[in-house]
Amino acid sequence: MTPNRYERLFGDVVPEQRLVTDEATLSRFSRDTTEAEPGRPDVVLFIENAAEAEAAVRVAAEHRVPLIPRIAGTNLGGLSIPVRGGAILDLTGFNRIIDINEIDMIAVIEPGVTFGQLVAELKRRQLPLTIGIPLSPPHTSIMANCLLDGLGNLSLLYGTMGEWITGLEVLLSTGQTIRTGAWAVSDVPPFARAPLPDLTGLFVSWQGTTGLVTKMAVELKPKLAFRRRLFVLTYNRRTTYDLMRRLARQRMFDDIGGLSWPTGKMMYGIERPLERDPDEPEFFTYIDLSANSEAELSIKLDTMTRIIAEQRSNGAELEDPLDLDTIVKVAPQFEKFAEFPTDLEFLTQHPGGGLSWVGTYGPMSRFDRAADLGIEIMARYRFPPLIVSRPMKGGHFGVLRFIETFSRDDDKEVEAVRRCNAELTTMVLEQGFIPYKTPVRTTAQVIPHLWPGTHQLMRRLKEVLDPYQIMNPGRWGLDTEEEL
Ligand SMILES: Cc1cc2nc3c(=O)[nH]c(=O)nc-3n(C[C@H](O)[C@H](O)[C@H](O)COP(=O)(O)OP(=O)(O)OC[C@H]3O[C@@H](n4cnc5c(N)ncnc54)[C@H](O)[C@@H]3O)c2cc1C
Repeated sequence: MTPNRYERLFGDVVPEQRLVTDEATLSRFSRDTTEAEPGRPDVVLFIENAAEAEAAVRVAAEHRVPLIPRIAGTNLGGLSIPVRGGAILDLTGFNRIIDINEIDMIAVIEPGVTFGQLVAELKRRQLPLTIGIPLSPPHTSIMANCLLDGLGNLSLLYGTMGEWITGLEVLLSTGQTIRTGAWAVSDVPPFARAPLPDLTGLFVSWQGTTGLVTKMAVELKPKLAFRRRLFVLTYNRRTTYDLMRRLARQRMFDDIGGLSWPTGKMMYGIERPLERDPDEPEFFTYIDLSANSEAELSIKLDTMTRIIAEQRSNGAELEDPLDLDTIVKVAPQFEKFAEFPTDLEFLTQHPGGGLSWVGTYGPMSRFDRAADLGIEIMARYRFPPLIVSRPMKGGHFGVLRFIETFSRDDDKEVEAVRRCNAELTTMVLEQGFIPYKTPVRTTAQVIPHLWPGTHQLMRRLKEVLDPYQIMNPGRWGLDTEEEL
């Protein structure tokens, strides 16, 4: 068969078997689990190293072919679906752990390194270190989560995953390679982004529109030997958020998560639970803590118990915490929460296949109102009020997510998700929250809220960093042909 345009262009970039243009593959890569509009790539290149990535960027720049980086494709924002066709760079095989510096607690990794892979490697080397781990499946990329400014199970202590990055090596479509953080000065594993002008931010939350990151240095944190995960029935959202706010500022807990009642039902296999049982608590909360010794652990447990007792004496309805090990004995489904990373199959593997969210960061002071309004909106569209809320960075802010599962092949449901998410987005923006990992439709709602000078500067930076407009185009209203 005569090679098509893309096969000719990229023929020298990767071996033949890693350049794919068959319809089945293109169609698989043209959508994800969300309601995002499908977009067909022209070719998928399975990139395995920096030299191939560099060659792909060079060819794409010369011939103005859009490049869309992708690893597991689970960003839940349609971010690796091509908006203007082009080449998907599948980076799953570009996955070496280049270095783990135990003393400085820094890992240097390639794009395809997954949470499962790094956690297994730390375990294999018997290093008492860990990375912040999200609730996404083990096969998802650490780099993608950091570049998308996601969060993990240590974000209460250390902030968004973007903040964990200490250095990047980035290929620009101009052909330049740049380094950020201490890497800009020396080859040692970059210990910090300070004290240089911080260019790392030019690649965090830009959704791959400014450059292709080929190497990242990221902080690891001590993994303490004594750990507990406890669950508390917190009954309603007021009690949950009050407790969260109080616990968060103790600087003692690794993670605190308030989950709404559909989570429990869905873990038991009920796909679309719309009705809460009369005695069923509206919310439950998990609390993670870790310590260097039994004595330290017991101080933390005592603090938690004291705060719960105080909240209760102030009138809050709260049960005593239950250890996860105890819960698992009566409800084995909770085993899923025992060790991260984990695959929450009730979200990722239900028959309808659809999963979406409006995920936001926002002030903890406004959680109650935003949750009230969000629950109302979800009920109107007949989605269970599946909410995950977690304080971050010592309680300065938190993540509030409204999650929907749905049938991807049912057009009516897909439309309902679109409308529900659009309404949720309007609401969260009005309440002062900021959506993250934003799909194209959501970004279009965010842009009018952006300070005009900020958006103009973003566009100018885009022109400088990606003058050919080939890096994941169509996002953030950055392309030159898009109206301001
Ligand atoms: C059930 C479930 C739970 C989840 N829970 C969480 C959670 O708790 N916290 C959280 O933060 N997220 C969560 N997520 C979202 C998502 O899984 C994570 O953000 C994940 O780490 C993304 O990894 P990925 O391999 O799927 O990346 P992909 O979806 O493949 O990411 C691709 C995007 O990342 C960017 N990108 C990737 N590589 C590069 C590169 N080399 N250079 C430039 N840009 C690049 C680009 O914008 C690209 O479009 C969850 C998802 C699911 C399905």
